[in-house]
Amino acid sequence: MIKNKTAQDFMQLEDKYGAHNYHPLPVVLAKGEGVYVWDVEGKRYYDFLSAYSAVNQGHCHPRIIKAMTDQAQILTLTSRAFYNNMLGKYEQYITSYFGYDKVLPINTGVEAVETALKLARKWAYKVKGIPENRAKIIFASGNFHGRTLGVISASVDPDATNDFGPFLPGLEIVPYNDVEALAQALDDPNVAAFIVEPIQGEAGVYVPDEDYLPKAYALCHENNALFVADEVQTGIARTGKLLACDYYDFKPDILILGKALSGGAMPVSAVLADDEIMLTIKPGEHGSTFGGNPLACAVGIEALQVVKDEHLAENAFVLGNLFREKMNEMIAKTDLVSKVRGKGLLNAILINDTEDSDTAWRICLQLRDNGLLAKPTHGNIIRFAPPLVMTKEQILDCANIIEKTILEFEK
Ligand code: PLP
Repeated sequence: MIKNKTAQDFMQLEDKYGAHNYHPLPVVLAKGEGVYVWDVEGKRYYDFLSAYSAVNQGHCHPRIIKAMTDQAQILTLTSRAFYNNMLGKYEQYITSYFGYDKVLPINTGVEAVETALKLARKWAYKVKGIPENRAKIIFASGNFHGRTLGVISASVDPDATNDFGPFLPGLEIVPYNDVEALAQALDDPNVAAFIVEPIQGEAGVYVPDEDYLPKAYALCHENNALFVADEVQTGIARTGKLLACDYYDFKPDILILGKALSGGAMPVSAVLADDEIMLTIKPGEHGSTFGGNPLACAVGIEALQVVKDEHLAENAFVLGNLFREKMNEMIAKTDLVSKVRGKGLLNAILINDTEDSDTAWRICLQLRDNGLLAKPTHGNIIRFAPPLVMTKEQILDCANIIEKTILEFEK
């Protein structure tokens, strides 16, 4: 073992011994607290990614870490072969929190998406009466629902699909934010469900037209198909409401949550639905060794309670408006950025350059040098998603860092 490793050493270790399935920004983090992270040399940064919106409650939130360490000393995992004294409590808590009859607890975001897809198919055969193996699920183009084979089968991103085929049948992709295309696809009586991100985060924070989601929901119901909301990234206060769907007057038939369900402490995800849908899955038909483990339950309850107690949705709403206002002021002073878009504290700026240029990447390197960590999503789009425990002073400080970086970059 090398003593007194430098950042370079840590990066080389990852490069040498880890698969090359990520291209991280060159910064090696060693500590996190609230809205800040520190690198191995002790330099402090604002975290403007929040682990892809998993750390909404801020890094190492003391209440979440306490719930975690307390529970970790008593019981961590029993498997679902037996009952445990935390699962029911968590299930009661989360279902009343989001207003559903039942929850199916699982671990990662993509597992929750797979669960929702299986559930939709089961419902299609058991309740809707679709003939065996004919159920179809509609996806929106540009989607990102994770990395399993089932889920990438509906991706239009070549990076996600190249050389991973053959893919899952029974899926149809329609353009995002296109009600007409959805209406046509729903015309098929074998459609079980439409799954959609209320805002497409990974694709570059695409916010659909105001009437898209309510119309999509209504169309699903007119055609006896389920509306499935993937709120893994948009949920849990990120967009300025508890759920991004809360901006509208409907409740998804199936709700998928992950990431911030644990405040970033461990993988915790969930699928919520009412009895007519959820009870179509019977014992032995779906599950996971770690799903609903006592540790996850303790962490999940505390993480959700922190969101309420600290009014994180309200904070994200107010600070998000302020942030976009500041970004628009900056845009008026530069040609380098063409637009800011987003809701709450899920935002992105669009860099004026070709899709394949490295301008956004180089801006992120400059932002890093100026004390703020963010990463390009697709092409020349930089996502800004800080922890929701930001203060007004901090978000103004961050807006200044971004403006300074952008204006200097132009020179
Ligand atoms: N769904 C959405 C909308 C996501 O943004 C992500 C991850 O970014 C996932 C699903 C997959 O979550 P995980 O990486 O925890 O599997």
